[in-house]
Amino acid sequence: MQLEKRLRRITRLTTLSIALAIIFFIPLGYFTVGLKYEKKLLAVYSEFNADLISRKIVSNPKAWRSQTGQFKQNLAPAVWQNKHIYYRISDTQQKVLFGVGEAPKRPVFSARARLLVEGEIVGNIDAQISLTPLLYGTFLSFLLSLAVAWVIFYLLNMLPFAALTRVMKRLEESESKLKVEVDAKENALREYRQVSDAMVYQATHDDLTELPNRACFTQAFDKHFSNVADNEEAVFSIMIFDLNRFKEINDNLGHPFGDEVIKAVSRRIRQTLPETDLLARIGGDEFAVLLTSSGKKAAIAQAKEIVDSVKKHIVVEGYHLSLQGSIGISSYPAHGTTFEELMRHADIAMYCAKQNEKMVCSYEQGYEDNGPDRLILTADLRQTIDNGGLALFFQPKFSLKSGEVVGVEALARWTHPEYGAIAPEIFITLAEQAGIIHSLTEWVLETALQQQVAWNKQGLSLDMAVNISSRNLQNDQFTQQVSTLLEKYDLEGAGLTLELTESSIMLDPGKSIERIHGLSKLGIKVSIDDYGIGYSSLVYLKKLMVHELKIDKSFICNLLDDDNDQVIVRSTIEMAHNLNLKVVSEGIENTEIYNLLKEQNCDIAQGHYLCDPLPIEQFGKWISGQSIAGQAINGNSDKVISSLRTL
Ligand code: C2E
Ligand code: MG
Ligand code: MG
Repeated sequence: MQLEKRLRRITRLTTLSIALAIIFFIPLGYFTVGLKYEKKLLAVYSEFNADLISRKIVSNPKAWRSQTGQFKQNLAPAVWQNKHIYYRISDTQQKVLFGVGEAPKRPVFSARARLLVEGEIVGNIDAQISLTPLLYGTFLSFLLSLAVAWVIFYLLNMLPFAALTRVMKRLEESESKLKVEVDAKENALREYRQVSDAMVYQATHDDLTELPNRACFTQAFDKHFSNVADNEEAVFSIMIFDLNRFKEINDNLGHPFGDEVIKAVSRRIRQTLPETDLLARIGGDEFAVLLTSSGKKAAIAQAKEIVDSVKKHIVVEGYHLSLQGSIGISSYPAHGTTFEELMRHADIAMYCAKQNEKMVCSYEQGYEDNGPDRLILTADLRQTIDNGGLALFFQPKFSLKSGEVVGVEALARWTHPEYGAIAPEIFITLAEQAGIIHSLTEWVLETALQQQVAWNKQGLSLDMAVNISSRNLQNDQFTQQVSTLLEKYDLEGAGLTLELTESSIMLDPGKSIERIHGLSKLGIKVSIDDYGIGYSSLVYLKKLMVHELKIDKSFICNLLDDDNDQVIVRSTIEMAHNLNLKVVSEGIENTEIYNLLKEQNCDIAQGHYLCDPLPIEQFGKWISGQSIAGQAINGNSDKVISSLRTL
């Protein structure tokens, strides 16, 4: 637009100058040329007529002055040229002798010629012509030049600009069209970028937690690795975190609840990590962490912080959870120099942590020798159960009031021919996943009851506690199977306690209540195992008609150091007593804890401090030296609790 304005101004000035020049020069030219012409004409006529008169004078020197009539006829009037020339003849004294034609109106233009007789001037002839026609003509030419100037001004000024405006308009139109096209293309590009960003985000992030996923973790590792590759002193670690018993949560409380748990756990882990460390979700309940500048020691400290933070109560949909996780660590360069190697070693270390109930485990050479493939392990487990190859250990339970042994918990054990002892946490989960938990539980129940019969025959009356998986509780045949076994071994239900976890009950509270009622009718006691880390509500506990709460060992192990655990344990004991429930504490590892629980009126105690789970032969030897509730074995009824830890 600026350019158009400038062009307009320049063109207007130019065309105005041309128009003015036309207006000025055409009339001026006309006048000048006309004047010149008139002058010439007059000069010619005056000379011609002077010559004519001069000849008359020569032929009649005396009378020419009186023969004016003759002259009038002879003088060229130039009428043919439509010119009214007036001639005035005068003598040498300037006296006008006569005039020919009409005296012209002023302004006039005149030309003089001499009347010569034999070379002597005898008079003058003045030819006069009016300038008015010339002036009129000049005026007309002025009007004409005005018209011409206007036309030229218009043509030069208006027409090109009309065309220019049209061109500009078209340009503007095509420019706006182009702009629309460019905008559309930009929008498409922006949308494409958004879509591709979203696709990249989706490909590299986990939908649920919005954390980076395995692919992103691999990329981040590669980037970090290439940054530190040249630095010989570089150290960093990889952690793999796996939530314990997550499957149980999923199975029992449903996947949406499990999802919320995963989200809450991911937030907890993220909060404990420095910004520079990358946290990724690499599987269902598996997280990986890239500790960019931590060696083994710092990584272990960080891992402990993570398990502690996850252990602190998490509230999910109104349920107070205390979750546990296992962490495996591998450090660069000691445990590997490639991503695959470090990940594999961290995974093996995590598996060892689970196996050994250590929560945090850093990789050591030789660990992989013990790292079985889970599929092979499941097949082996199936075979072992079918062949009766599992073992049953017994861990005694003590009355905290009297210090006497009141019962045992039957705990399954599996020693793999190649990998050695496999942790129950692992093979029970495998059995649940493979659907062989029913035959496993059946074997445990039958073996435990057979053992009870054997003890009864020896005069030993011990309550038998058997762990029941959530899958067993869902099995409609379960109550009937237990009843059949009790009948088969001619045992009272009262001597049997079935330990169920809170989550297995909460899966289908209505069905659980029904099932527990059925078991109670058989006289069987029901205990809520691992109480505190699950999701029980007091309302259900009341309805459930359970007999016992077994506080989870994670609250008991740290009882002396953790004020929160003390509050939970104390209030659980009080609450359970108010509901007429017995309280068992598992995981007692020292005298102080034992005494504290005794002070707090806990009913039953179980733990390594008192006695480890023992195979049947060792248990037989051990029990022979103990006080048994309500009876004396080998006359040792006066033994006190301080002497219990014999093994
Ligand atoms: P649980 O029923 O809570 O069993 C108690 C666990 O605590 C046992 O681990 C026992 O060895 C361990 N324990 C005993 N005293 C202490 C102590 O002082 N400190 C510590 N830290 N731990 C102690 P175990 O035998 O490894 O069993 C682990 C879990 O595996 C059991 O937890 C139970 O849930 C499951 N399990 C074991 N046997 C069976 C079974 O026959 N059937 C089913 N369904 N589950 C079983
Ligand atoms: Mg148990
Ligand atoms: Mg337990």
